[in-house]
Amino acid sequence: MSSSKFNLKLNLKLSSKVYNSKLFSPKLSTTLLSTFALLSCVGLATNNAIAANSEQNSPVSQQDLPKNIIMVIADGMGPAYTSAYRYFNDDPATAEIEKTVFERHLKGLSSTYPAPVSGYVTDSAAGATALATGVKSYNGAISVDVNKKPLLTVLEWAKQQGKRTGVVVTSRINHATPASYLSHNESRRNYDELANSYIDNGIKADVYFGGGWTNYIRDDRNIVNEFKQAGFQYIDSYSQLAGLANDKPVLGLFADFGLPWALDDSNKHRLAMMTKAATGQLKNDAGFFMLVEASQIDWGGHDNNIATAMHEMDDLAKLMEYLEVFVEKNPDTLVVLTADHSTGGFTLAANKEYRWDPEVLRTMKYSPATIAKNIIAKDPLDQKEINKWLNFELNTEEFQQITKVDSSYQQAKAKYVLLSATEKTEKKAPELKELYRRAILAIIDKRTNTGWTTSGHTGIDVPVFAFGKHSEQFSGQLDNTDIAKKIFTLLGK
Ligand SMILES: [Zn+2]
Repeated sequence: MSSSKFNLKLNLKLSSKVYNSKLFSPKLSTTLLSTFALLSCVGLATNNAIAANSEQNSPVSQQDLPKNIIMVIADGMGPAYTSAYRYFNDDPATAEIEKTVFERHLKGLSSTYPAPVSGYVTDSAAGATALATGVKSYNGAISVDVNKKPLLTVLEWAKQQGKRTGVVVTSRINHATPASYLSHNESRRNYDELANSYIDNGIKADVYFGGGWTNYIRDDRNIVNEFKQAGFQYIDSYSQLAGLANDKPVLGLFADFGLPWALDDSNKHRLAMMTKAATGQLKNDAGFFMLVEASQIDWGGHDNNIATAMHEMDDLAKLMEYLEVFVEKNPDTLVVLTADHSTGGFTLAANKEYRWDPEVLRTMKYSPATIAKNIIAKDPLDQKEINKWLNFELNTEEFQQITKVDSSYQQAKAKYVLLSATEKTEKKAPELKELYRRAILAIIDKRTNTGWTTSGHTGIDVPVFAFGKHSEQFSGQLDNTDIAKKIFTLLGK
């Protein structure tokens, strides 16, 4: 489908049909008992959450809406990730286990299933479509329904109400989650079309921070220049975040694709840094709606990479701590945090052993990919150097696993050259760096006793956190579509 066809169709008309905002239905109260039972079972219940469930039904008056709404999506962050972060964040020198920012704001759980045509397990596109529009769609859909008709998003609605809008992500700004708030497309894979739509369908945000040079600066089209012509200031390094003009919208692209892993980034807490700059740009009398995505928790999960996943969680935690301060100073702000789904089937403890030990993760300074690259650059293998990059000491057995990588690479390569031409197009040639990376991941999984069941997504419910104005509305057992519906209501729809 051509993106230009969409442009015109979208114009404001979508609202009433596609989406019906009977939010605080009396039905919810009858689910209170079963919600209580479920929450008790999974150990997530707090007295606050249960008490607040009745508040959830109380309607919000039009005079009492939050001025600013900040929606945070932690892509892939099922409940195992927030549990793991508690232990990752624990200071072993003290007897107690320190509370995390997540524990301060837990409200309940959300189901994540997509439209029936895609079964029970969602992808990020259908997940973000539900969170952005209140409508379930098929996996791969970018804010279009199962018939590929565009759906109004909460960001578009906020803009139409005269609020400023922004997106801050660690993926490309045209990746599935941000695109589902800003665009409409039959497929998340149409990256260039999605990038084009940010101009062609009308500019919908005042702030865009994330990656994406590959789709925004192309041979056939330079969308960065088009943003500049439309009056935007453009920045391409973090250092420029401090010098932004407040009276001009801003496009900030900091990488080809996604940003580096938090572990490898020049600022390991870049979400808080970017969001701080974004709130500075967005604050105004009419208020703002902002989407922030911790995009790469999901990538850590897909990669079965607990080191990168925990440091992405740390990036998110520092963002939430910054937002706590922001809400304290701006109490007419609502912050909601949830995930679109869980990734990797991550478990704390595996192999019948009652142990999950994040110790080595806390001190790591580089991702396993960067360490693998360093190992190759520094030939021959030097255990001391490798220990330095890992920031923990390999034992003899672990170092042997690293030394074995080269011979298994030679064997894999010898096998690969014997493949037929067609087989070669189907199978990737073995890569030394990838084999070193895998060896490091295996060592870390064993050290920490981390388990994984899949390199894809799982259908488990995800936690919902909220604080600030009318955060009580997000308590109990929700569905991902409820979150968008509630946000629409709080935006006066
Ligand atoms: Zn994913």
